Amino acid sequence: MNKDFIYLDNNATTKTDDRVVEAMLPYFTELYANASSSHSFGLKILNDIQNARLKVANLINAGPPEIVFTSGGTESINIALQGFAVANQQNGNHIITVETEHKATLETCKYLESIGFEISYLPVISDGLIDLNLLKNTLREGTILVCVMFVNNETGVIQPIKEISNITHQAGAIFMCDATQAVGKIEVDVRNLGIDIMAFSSHKFYGPYGVGVLYINDFKRNRFKIKPLIYGGGHENGLRSGSLNVPGIVGLGKACEIAKKEMNANTYRIGLLRDKLEKELLELPNSCLNGNKKNRIYNVSNICFSGIDADILIGKMKNIAVATGSACSSALLEPSHVLKAMGLSEDDAMASIRFSLGKFNTEEEITSAIQIIHNLLIDYTLSNA
Ligand SMILES: *Cc1c(COP(=O)(O)O)cnc(C)c1O
Repeated sequence: MNKDFIYLDNNATTKTDDRVVEAMLPYFTELYANASSSHSFGLKILNDIQNARLKVANLINAGPPEIVFTSGGTESINIALQGFAVANQQNGNHIITVETEHKATLETCKYLESIGFEISYLPVISDGLIDLNLLKNTLREGTILVCVMFVNNETGVIQPIKEISNITHQAGAIFMCDATQAVGKIEVDVRNLGIDIMAFSSHKFYGPYGVGVLYINDFKRNRFKIKPLIYGGGHENGLRSGSLNVPGIVGLGKACEIAKKEMNANTYRIGLLRDKLEKELLELPNSCLNGNKKNRIYNVSNICFSGIDADILIGKMKNIAVATGSACSSALLEPSHVLKAMGLSEDDAMASIRFSLGKFNTEEEITSAIQIIHNLLIDYTLSNA
């Protein structure tokens, strides 16, 4: 993109860090062997994979055998939900999730309903948080799994993960977490948080596309079972067959290493930029913040500009990339299911814009974005008055 382009859509994907690209390059050229080959060239590649696995494990306080490489967040969520449900059916057929989860979770749950599972979709209160008492009351005999995301991709709202895992475990169920918007941005310690199964994705924190992780607590000890979705050569302890994406995994390992070292500095700097952007935009008439202001990640601001059509406004922001509170499903623009679950009207959901910042954003970009949006909104209000 040209250098005047202001990218504020980092929750959709992030620019791959140059150091990550550099770490990956040799695996497209001279380091091309298959990690499963038993010759010395294959063993060298396997060793590099295990190094990457260690870096991934270190970032989330897991052990390397607990890390399963996949193609991304969506695949990890599918293996976890489908594979867990089918393998643990003898213990019950009830699963609890939340209305504001990512579509990867919601659509997989819908599929599970179609094959006989019972799914409870917990509502959220207006700030996007779930009601823990309602979770307690929804857990019952036959509840095998509770699946709650860490950071919401649209609003940045952070659910109380440790409390949720405690409540889940007290009821004898397993806790799964979609941490795709959390890992690499905030500290995620699977042991301290009591997470049994966790999904995340490399391209959301400056790693490459096409690689993700499924974390399974004590995988080797078989505390619970997960049935594979893909069969074949038995890679990744039989859970995800197929030749490993070597460059992708090496890149993900590098992204994890960088995140561990630089996360705190980025948190502080990006947080200041987000707060500045948010403060200025909330001064505009009829604007308000969507989601809990306190329990929230530092890089996202989801703002409703009541009375506007966010998609028209975005069409006018030629050199700013943001996301709207609508999603394109079957060519129709539909209001975001997340904002609707939080009680927004369809109009207010369609008037909402998600700004998601990343480590490559500069102060000049934020200043410039504020100016551009101010001017556009004034024009918009005048022309629609
Ligand atoms: C992006 C995202 C996913 C899907 O990850 P992919 O790697 O793109 O498949 C799942 N959950 C959340 C919260 C996300 O933000």
